[in-house]
Amino acid sequence: METLESMYEAMGVSKEIYEFGEKTAEKLEGRFREIDANAEYNQMKVVRAFQKNRISAEHFNGTTGYGYNDAGRDDLEKVYADTFHTEDALVRPQITCGTHALALALAANLRPGDEMISISGKPYDTLEEVIGIRPSRGSLAEYGITYRQVELKPDGSFDFEAIRNALGEKTRLVEIQRSKGYLTRPSLAVDKIGEAIRFVKSLRPDIIVMVDNCYGEFVDRVEPSDFGADMTVGSLIKNPGGGLAPIGGYIAGTHECIENCAVRLTSPGLGREVGASLGVLRQLYQGFFLAPTVTASALKTAIFAANLYEQLGFRVNPNGTERRNDIIQDIEFGFPEGVIHFCEGIQQAAPVDSYVTPEPWAMPGYDSDVIMAAGAFVSGSSIELSADGPIKPPYAVYFQGGLTYEHGKFGILRSLQRLYECGVVKIG
Ligand SMILES: *Cc1c(COP(=O)(O)O)cnc(C)c1O
Repeated sequence: METLESMYEAMGVSKEIYEFGEKTAEKLEGRFREIDANAEYNQMKVVRAFQKNRISAEHFNGTTGYGYNDAGRDDLEKVYADTFHTEDALVRPQITCGTHALALALAANLRPGDEMISISGKPYDTLEEVIGIRPSRGSLAEYGITYRQVELKPDGSFDFEAIRNALGEKTRLVEIQRSKGYLTRPSLAVDKIGEAIRFVKSLRPDIIVMVDNCYGEFVDRVEPSDFGADMTVGSLIKNPGGGLAPIGGYIAGTHECIENCAVRLTSPGLGREVGASLGVLRQLYQGFFLAPTVTASALKTAIFAANLYEQLGFRVNPNGTERRNDIIQDIEFGFPEGVIHFCEGIQQAAPVDSYVTPEPWAMPGYDSDVIMAAGAFVSGSSIELSADGPIKPPYAVYFQGGLTYEHGKFGILRSLQRLYECGVVKIG
């Protein structure tokens, strides 16, 4: 029988890199046990929600046409609401992605003349056009909704004084982004988000707080919704889809906010009563069931990579030992080849499309060329091992995912091999 080492070698990972990886992984066992314990806790949360709502095989059938009386769809929303401890949730394949879910949550709950404030600095790139920070057709700005932004402090914490000063008569909604997205600030811990929510509500209980929870689900034992967020929003082709959801987004929150989202998603008067689930319900249920352990695999992959690249002298964020608040890892190379060759290595390790070479291109919604590596079962899924980086300083690659830690580890080793072969990284 072939040894594991020789299998790695046949897959393009040299003995030297494999051994470097093994030494790194050995030191992480304690850390990985903590992650498994969190996954166990979250698994119980999800199964409890399934059982409470008496999920049965019939729930997977789905509907067509108008989708009236789609019990599978309606009860999936109850499963999400119970897991996130919210009054209600909207979870649908008609919500096309995370940006759409966030745009929906905003547009549904803001009216002309209202103002929204981001209190975690610049929001995710694609939201710039949703809000109208970059002028864009159909933006909230075009509907007379204004926007303000409060920066995080240099240490990455909320600037409470500046938040207090920013809240005005017109302020209707406050946005908090948990994950750093394409920035090098730290991602926000759920309890810190909770403090900010409490602060805003203590000054203005009428303000709606929306948390962009993308990449954060199941990383911790609690979610922003446990701390009073009115809407917690994310994408099903990230953590909560567990790698199986082929499409979708969710909004979990108060009944009032979710009803507003429902009538905006479909139509006033129709709301959540329509929206056929077609044939995706089993995948949405099963993906959510798997999501806690899949998220744990992604976290282990990120921590493994952080420790590996940190030893090679690169700035990694979060660093090798820091607490995690999302599944994103960035590695700052400082030169474009680092980003490009890293992505090539991730692609070479993929189960799908391993033979193609990723190249930087001008992606819609982004303001610089972006390179993306993904050999995914679900197109664009970033709970699957995937890497991307805007080709602009500080030339950081952002990667996330790994449906299994075993595959994530291979991808990271393959990326290192690629950088080594291209002569941009030296080992030892
Ligand atoms: C991915 C992401 C989004 C947008 O989700 P898409 O599914 O890519 O549209 C928004 N905010 C954050 C923080 C994200 O990570």
